Amino acid sequence: MTAPTQNVRAIQNARVCFYCGTSILSAEEVVCPSCHGTDINDRHASPIYTPPEPGRKLPHPWNIELRKGGTCLLAGNRGAGKTTCCMQLEPDYIGTSEQEVVQVKNGWYRILGQDAARPNIAYLSTWDDLAIDLEGLTEGTIVVVDSITQLGATHNQEEVVRSCVQHIRNAQAYAVFITQHNKDGSMAGPNILQHMVDIVSEILTDRDGQRRLTHHKNRFGDTPTTYFTIEESGISRPNFQYAYSVEGKAGDYRLALHPDAGAKWGELYKELETKNVRIPRLGVASCARLSGIYKRGFAEPTDIEARRRFALDNGVDWLSAEEVFDHIAASSTDDDSNDDPISF
Ligand SMILES: [Zn+2]
Repeated sequence: MTAPTQNVRAIQNARVCFYCGTSILSAEEVVCPSCHGTDINDRHASPIYTPPEPGRKLPHPWNIELRKGGTCLLAGNRGAGKTTCCMQLEPDYIGTSEQEVVQVKNGWYRILGQDAARPNIAYLSTWDDLAIDLEGLTEGTIVVVDSITQLGATHNQEEVVRSCVQHIRNAQAYAVFITQHNKDGSMAGPNILQHMVDIVSEILTDRDGQRRLTHHKNRFGDTPTTYFTIEESGISRPNFQYAYSVEGKAGDYRLALHPDAGAKWGELYKELETKNVRIPRLGVASCARLSGIYKRGFAEPTDIEARRRFALDNGVDWLSAEEVFDHIAASSTDDDSNDDPISF
């Protein structure tokens, strides 16, 4: 077993704002960026209550909130849709290192429409270029760096990366850094960045070709997984045609199409089919399996509530075992009106 990785922000409390508790890293800063107080020359604080600032709700398929000053690292293979997902955010600044500015422009208007505001694009070859561009960054600005994979630095890369992230934090802006996977599946880019960012996200492509955006770490809340498809005009919700079973171990769920050889929790659908009852609506997920030892003939996993939430987070409806029994009961009373309605 390896030593626990440093996935908490390095604590910097040598100099804090007395009135609000904000850490002030640079000795040159004499005014607190959070409360504009000037009593920041000591490690002591007696902070007043400050309500948590509401985050910025990111559009589909992000399904999370980003707080002011927040940073996100988004990884994925070539063609996974990283750039498209970031265009959805309508960034105020796009730093590009791998695409020509014209390509970025074309993507911008294709996804956001020809009436979209003019993009602000900068070609980047080093972290130093980015650091220069981040000077004068204003509160609430959305920065996208596409991508950091090839970015070098003129002297100490770690130092420049750190100052870029710190700058976004201090300016109360937002940033998403795009990266790719290395051959071994890890994320490319400086390690320091992975530790400093608030959110680490990844786009994966499932074996049935579905793309999903998943979050591995999120200091601001949940780590949902959201399925999406990419079309000419950008991101859309998948048009699920079939029923799904929520498969996988607790915390590592996936939606498996029914019928699927691996969908061991999809037996509710088989029951519907043998009773000649159509699956009541499109885009449903469930998980239950046949079992003679339970009174209803089905067993449900103990983490059914987490599986239900996963299904809903992924934009599909939940079909409970009760509902399935109701449908079967309703159809059998239609067929044979002499039967008493089955109650549960
Ligand atoms: Zn302060």
